[in-house]
Amino acid sequence: MIMSKMPLYVLAALMAVGCSTIENHQQAANAASESAREERMEAVEVQLDSVKTPEDALARLAEGNARYVADSCLNPHHNHKRVAATASQQKPFAAVVACSDSRVPVELLFDQGIGDIFVIRTAGNSVNDDVVMGSVDYAVEHLGVKAVVVLGHESCGGVTGAISDMEKSDDSKVDELLSVIRNDVKPYVGHKDSLDAAVRLNARVQVDRIMASKHVQKQVAEGRLVVKSAYYNVRSGKVDF
Ligand SMILES: [Zn+2]
Repeated sequence: MIMSKMPLYVLAALMAVGCSTIENHQQAANAASESAREERMEAVEVQLDSVKTPEDALARLAEGNARYVADSCLNPHHNHKRVAATASQQKPFAAVVACSDSRVPVELLFDQGIGDIFVIRTAGNSVNDDVVMGSVDYAVEHLGVKAVVVLGHESCGGVTGAISDMEKSDDSKVDELLSVIRNDVKPYVGHKDSLDAAVRLNARVQVDRIMASKHVQKQVAEGRLVVKSAYYNVRSGKVDF
């Protein structure tokens, strides 16, 4: 009743005050949430900068992937301050050997930033090549990474091609690539329904190949390095270690 007797311009003024109060509350809530996010991001950056052991390295990767799966990425080390800080030297805490598949963006799926991960990508994440294996050795010997993870993935085209009876094409290096992977997943060749098992075997074979390096063996024996295979689910975004 009181409202109905109120002149319209007074009612409009009161509503405007009410709206701006709600807006102010919303802005304050947004600012508080942004500030909490920045605090969490800075805490993560401190952790990433202080990785000392193989266990730390695997934990940072697993935590980053958990944020990615939960759609709550913090994008640490993803700014110009970090660009400047890493310009003269890199000190990544992990190396990841992944497939070149566009659905496997390594830094994104581990929620890491500039200078955190030394990434090596080939179709089918094979290290059966001097250039690739040399890259792994470089990360271990010269950069001092604490973990090397070989990341196979769901629906891998390279492994699918390797276990399928694909037509040979005369003028393509793809055949050579597939024959290299095929050699590593022999038990599954001709069994297209065993793709997941073949992907996991392929990753383990690459781990064995990396572990054949004397430098790698020494570091692992001294507890300064871990070499592990893992599996990335392209549907959920989750990495199974
Ligand atoms: Zn792949």
